[in-house]
Amino acid sequence: MDFERYQRQMLVKDFGRAGQEKLAASTALVIGCGAVGSTIANLLVRAGVGRVRLVDRDLVELSNLPRQILFDEEDVRERRPKAIAAARHLRRINSDVQVEPVVANVRRNNILSLMGDADVVLDGTDNFPTRYLINDAALKLGKPWIYSGVLATYGMTATFVLGETGCLRCLFGPLDPEAEVNAPTCATVGVFGPVVGVVASLAAGEALKLLTGLGKRNDHLLHIDLRDLTVEKLPLVANPTCPACHGQYDYLQPGRGYDADDGMEEDEPVDILCGGGTVQIKPMASPGEIDLVQLSAEMSGVVLEVVRPELLRVRMGDMEMTLFPDGRALFHGTEDAALARRWYRRLVQQ
Ligand SMILES: [Zn+2]
Repeated sequence: MDFERYQRQMLVKDFGRAGQEKLAASTALVIGCGAVGSTIANLLVRAGVGRVRLVDRDLVELSNLPRQILFDEEDVRERRPKAIAAARHLRRINSDVQVEPVVANVRRNNILSLMGDADVVLDGTDNFPTRYLINDAALKLGKPWIYSGVLATYGMTATFVLGETGCLRCLFGPLDPEAEVNAPTCATVGVFGPVVGVVASLAAGEALKLLTGLGKRNDHLLHIDLRDLTVEKLPLVANPTCPACHGQYDYLQPGRGYDADDGMEEDEPVDILCGGGTVQIKPMASPGEIDLVQLSAEMSGVVLEVVRPELLRVRMGDMEMTLFPDGRALFHGTEDAALARRWYRRLVQQ
């Protein structure tokens, strides 16, 4: 590794070569690679964190570009999964770093293995069900994790460290599925681009501090609104009756919390109309890993590309299907769920 690259960073008081070596030996997990997640990943990779694992389930869309700094118009045209597109850009920025893209939904059946070797976990998601899942998994594995969220002109971040601070559940109580359904989202109230950079930079900074031992940690929930430039700090007090802090991980249990993906139990048949000409199909029961290379050999003629092992793209007239190894498929160019389901059965379930 060429330490010359990090010279300015190593000059920072109390950081030094020792700090740089600690970063190089560290693994960070970034869950969600949208606006906040891609900005965090950009900062961690440039800073020289040795291994950065990026998990995201979505494809890059045009409306992402105003604030999702790792993506460009080619990623939109090629319909690249965000994790893959981000990894391509990040590897060009810093080849010292092992960047590991994972195209997947983060769920209770994969979160522990995704998190297993991480030294710090960063939240780049846009929803509380996934954050409660991260909270339970991080407590169970004893990992520090950094919550971040942005909406409209404001954002929040907090650093949760087992034994030192309360957790997300201490702070917000149990997840309220009804409140979740009615909660404002980026799709309803929008996002002011610069707030992403502010909150993601704070989160990435906390991660780098945590990994190197630099300075004092953020031990509050920090709330920043760029509209009138207000900054508030709320203490992260541990709730003595918090189940998660006492080893009861409700959101890791089937049927106890609710599914972090869409509020439905994982075994139900689910089709989601994403709108904007896309239908998502998920299998009723997990088929296990699909061998996309073998499957593509059986569908010769319609296959556009296989990006092994992450995805298979297939064209059917005006419609295009992107299939992931866990059986999830996105149909672009249609909003007809029944049509997409028929094609899914024909091509994937056979
Ligand atoms: Zn707690």
